Amino acid sequence: MIAQLVKYAGKLARAGLCAPGEPLLAALDAELSFSHADDPRQPLAERVILALGAGALLLAEPIGPCQGAMLALARRAVEEGRDCVLPGDCETRTFLHDLPVVRGLEAEGVIQALKRRKGCIILDETGGGRALMAAAGSVSPEQTFVTVSSMAFACFVAFFDQHLRAARAGTLTQARKAEFACVRAALEAELSRLPQTLPKLLPGPFTDADQARAAMTQAGRAVVEYGLVDSSFGNVSCRQQTPEGELLLISQTGSSLDELAGVIDPCRMDGSSCVGLTASSEYSAHKAVYDGGGARTILHGHPRFAVIVSMDCDKLDCPGLGECHRACAAPRAVCDPACGLSIPIVPGEVGTGPFGLCNTLPPALTDVGGGRGGPAAGSAVGAIVYGHGLFTTGKQDFRDAFATLFEVERFCRDEYFRRVAALGGA
Ligand SMILES: [Zn+2]
Repeated sequence: MIAQLVKYAGKLARAGLCAPGEPLLAALDAELSFSHADDPRQPLAERVILALGAGALLLAEPIGPCQGAMLALARRAVEEGRDCVLPGDCETRTFLHDLPVVRGLEAEGVIQALKRRKGCIILDETGGGRALMAAAGSVSPEQTFVTVSSMAFACFVAFFDQHLRAARAGTLTQARKAEFACVRAALEAELSRLPQTLPKLLPGPFTDADQARAAMTQAGRAVVEYGLVDSSFGNVSCRQQTPEGELLLISQTGSSLDELAGVIDPCRMDGSSCVGLTASSEYSAHKAVYDGGGARTILHGHPRFAVIVSMDCDKLDCPGLGECHRACAAPRAVCDPACGLSIPIVPGEVGTGPFGLCNTLPPALTDVGGGRGGPAAGSAVGAIVYGHGLFTTGKQDFRDAFATLFEVERFCRDEYFRRVAALGGA
């Protein structure tokens, strides 16, 4: 069990969310075990995990832009008399609901918050002030890792999204601008540590399903290494001809994109046999994209600025406000005239309901249904689902799909800061 605790503490550090060796994970099995010894937070962790009857608990202090974003959001919630932070992204809506804010690093507040939600923010105002995250899991330490990764992502997105909204509404104060400058500086430092050039991915066409699986595993790992998805979200698929017929290979739901070996399911493209409905919550969207066009591969990540820009809109008095994530009717896109980039933004909920992205995404990625945007045939295309993430397609392998994912996120980041500057928000 300790190996599992150490593994997830290490993944948080590698993702740049926490300092190496800082996250404290605890697991309650036959006995209580910790990821590392001599942490002054152990008595608190023990009280919380015993009171909740949980299988695992995680306490972690985010670093970099996530620390600044989470601290600012938690303080603002307290100032405004709220007991939680309310991000508007898809991970929060479908997975976290809201992020309770606990004042002070003490057990009772954390216990009460974690009885209500998977994770909470701890606002510790001793010293210069800092934010911490706590998460509990009924079974495995992996659940706590997914929760805190998602909380960090949600706070990052909410901080930058709210700043741009306030800039549009003209309500930014000098203090807010100074706070923004600090978080932005931390972001620049974080970005300088990420890879700047494209990875060398396996060229297609793939000879068989095994080689396609190897390419998927490699591409999934690159999406995580480049910071284009958090925790176990995102997915990857490939359409591959085999002697038994054509297969749609897709990563299982809940699998980590950097650990895909052994968790890629084969579904038949003709629909005659499929483990796909248990394989991925977004299987039907992938299937429809393949059915409607010439794509051979699909990559799906949650790049932060693609998500933030998808939520930015200048129609401040739109009658559809509040329903943007599932029913926005306006044709929207991010466009870079310099390189001809045109990436549609569509609404869509996770899953197959009436507002499901299985209905909204495929028309944006194929010519079926009037296909909006998208570069010329022969190159990769992509589409952003509002507040959720980016889907990109490849003609033959993952090289073009990955390049689109990477370039769209870089463009969205530049576009975000351009919009903030144009509104006088920097
Ligand atoms: Zn997703």
